[in-house]
Amino acid sequence: MEKFQKNNLKKIIELLNSSDNNIIVLGAGMSAESGIPTFRGENGLWNKYGVPKMDSYNKFLNNPEEWWNNEINMKMDKYIYELRHKINVAKPHNGHFIISKLEKLGIIKGVITQNIDNLDHRAGIKNLIEIHGNRTKFRCIECEKTFDRNEIIIKKPPKNCPKCNGIVKFDTVMFGEPISKTKLDKAKQLFNQSKVILAIGTSATVRPISGLFWIAEKEGKKIIDINPNETNLKEISTLNLKINAKRFLEILEKGITK
Ligand SMILES: [Zn+2]
Repeated sequence: MEKFQKNNLKKIIELLNSSDNNIIVLGAGMSAESGIPTFRGENGLWNKYGVPKMDSYNKFLNNPEEWWNNEINMKMDKYIYELRHKINVAKPHNGHFIISKLEKLGIIKGVITQNIDNLDHRAGIKNLIEIHGNRTKFRCIECEKTFDRNEIIIKKPPKNCPKCNGIVKFDTVMFGEPISKTKLDKAKQLFNQSKVILAIGTSATVRPISGLFWIAEKEGKKIIDINPNETNLKEISTLNLKINAKRFLEILEKGITK
């Protein structure tokens, strides 16, 4: 690591040790180290399969029954097969477990994840907002009630919501689907309460979470950008470090003094 980066690392650890309200925002870079491909970037799914139409939620709403039949008959975009397979075999890595440990120690007050793979939850992170949903659940689009789905391959469509009879879909947020207001409000609350925001492995390009960083910066919060690549946070971050998520968290774990 070059000298400038080493200095930044030292400052980041000092900042986290001295602040009493740190939160983490996770992006695809975190899951990539568990073998889950990203959408964007050089090795991303879209580079390999082309950018999809991003109209999946509209397609679902137009004909949920047809959508579920396509799902059961495995008629879906190619990139989805690859993504699902990799998610199904993925396990949380050491970085996930370190975040869980830092949460128990009180260093981290909450985590907002943009990942849908359930790895953050499996690692034991408790105050977790899965802003884009969770692959292991179904959700009613009317009342937002979620249900565990116990099977990886769906053989028949889920029944309508037992609470309100609404249509049930995967909890994962589709392209074009609005983010749940309840979840977004919780994420905003976590941002509001924080003093230091650690952005790990996120390019900060996906709304609505990306927008919260800019609001936070205006409010004088400190933003730390951890990413091997340059991100949009460059203009507003207090400190940044070009490093993979897992390696950073392993170094951080050793530097925490509380
Ligand atoms: Zn419902």
